[in-house]
Amino acid sequence: MAQTDLPAAFGFLASARTGGGRIPAAEFTTRGHHTPLSERLHALTVDAVLVRPHEGSGGAHATDGDTLVLFAGEIYNRDEIDDALGSRGHASDAEAVIGLFEKYGPHAFRLINGRYAALLLAGKRVLAATDHAGSVPLYVRPEPGHVLAATEVKVLAEAGGAIRGAPVPGTRRIRKLPGVHQVPAGAVLDIRVDTGEVTVHRTWTPPVHRRLVTESEALNNVRAALEKAVIRRLPAGGRPLVVLSGGIDSSAVAALSAGAATAGIDTLSMGTDVSNEFPQARVVAEHLESRHRELTVGSGDLLALLPHTVHAAESFDPEVIEYLLPLTALYRRIDGPPRRILTGYGADIPLGGMHREDRLPNLDTAVVFDMDTFDGLNEMSPVLSTVAGHWSTHPYWDREVLELLTVLEAGLKRRYGRDKWVLRAAMSDLLPAETVNRPKLGVHEGSGTTTSFSLLVRQAGGAEEDVPAVKARVVQQLFDLTVVGRVHPDDIAVEEIIGKILAEGRR
Ligand code: AMP
Ligand code: MG
Repeated sequence: MAQTDLPAAFGFLASARTGGGRIPAAEFTTRGHHTPLSERLHALTVDAVLVRPHEGSGGAHATDGDTLVLFAGEIYNRDEIDDALGSRGHASDAEAVIGLFEKYGPHAFRLINGRYAALLLAGKRVLAATDHAGSVPLYVRPEPGHVLAATEVKVLAEAGGAIRGAPVPGTRRIRKLPGVHQVPAGAVLDIRVDTGEVTVHRTWTPPVHRRLVTESEALNNVRAALEKAVIRRLPAGGRPLVVLSGGIDSSAVAALSAGAATAGIDTLSMGTDVSNEFPQARVVAEHLESRHRELTVGSGDLLALLPHTVHAAESFDPEVIEYLLPLTALYRRIDGPPRRILTGYGADIPLGGMHREDRLPNLDTAVVFDMDTFDGLNEMSPVLSTVAGHWSTHPYWDREVLELLTVLEAGLKRRYGRDKWVLRAAMSDLLPAETVNRPKLGVHEGSGTTTSFSLLVRQAGGAEEDVPAVKARVVQQLFDLTVVGRVHPDDIAVEEIIGKILAEGRR
């Protein structure tokens, strides 16, 4: 039930001081209009920059008395929230957060199903909140008398002059950026600006119980929840763009979008000169009668975007970066006006889809592990697409869909020798049989990214057995250069970095 095609803001930087303030300099990777904002609250001076898809200032912040909210992203359960607040109307998501806070205090953030990062300032406190998945990364630098917060950590790196500060239990420090912490997924950091003290409250944790339900109940629930999540993410009246690999996950999202979007849907598939999944995606596009486009990226051009991927995701997990690289290439080539993009990202995590594992206890162990370790990897960072002005959203990681999929007992996830059985069966009437039955292929596999990156390391003289370690070093150095050091990704040659790493290794 998106009210507008894009969120009011993609990101922000904010500075809250007990003394006087000034607007900090802010260079974001996110593309958008920068709207400055200065507010004098009772005990705090707040200076901020909102990064917005459109000009103007409405919707991304709200004030009421001594409370100010900055909001990047969007809420998907506005209907429920408005009912609870008795305020059906045209208020913005930021205003809905203020309304919830007045009624529920910091527990407000336990009620929101969204893709967002929010900052709420009231009295001497700053509340820094993420959605259940931490899907919009949020970073803070709390010091006595001055709190900085931003949706991109490089913006805090730019602020300079940090002190190391005390550790904050339950949060992650950021490599080479003293005093900076990432707000965990599904958490509110309650920060006292005068002392810099931080308390962490969890607003969501992955469920660890499992439910035994009948096949038909599981299928019906999955279908209904996913359909609702897709509908809540569609542009009002316009055409959604679904990034389509032709696998079951993205094909299901495309099918449900096609069923609900009155204006029809666009689909886009990406491949490289090394590999693609074009035939599989075409089967789905033809079946759904989408306006379909295929995009081929040369593997050299793809690898040249490694620095850009690290710069946007602000992650240095080599597997995550390898996986995000083809998506970075894809999003950056979507030209024309800003689009609302739906993906099939993340179904594998609650369903154990990438574990080719028949034994149910092991499958469930894998699901628990993956649900416990996604945080901080920034796999869903909107910056990957907002760098090109587009907003991405992931129906499988809708809070309700994610919970539902996670709690299904393992035997519904793996059944009759099929992985992700419950999803495949729930979608079988909307998709061609070959799509429903198609085995999993990750985007980094389907596009040949893993192979191309490995080849690059070997061509530079790296030994086969060193490839994983070299990749890890490359990605870490790209983080240090582009995020901490603020070198522009266009100015980095990946081959040179690989060469240096191999030379260091030989010494
Ligand atoms: P996967 O790693 O295959 O689970 O990919 C996650 C999501 O990225 C998919 O559900 C699609 O929405 C998108 N995606 C993956 N591969 C492609 C591709 N070749 N072209 C376009 N979108 C893709
Ligand atoms: Mg795939």
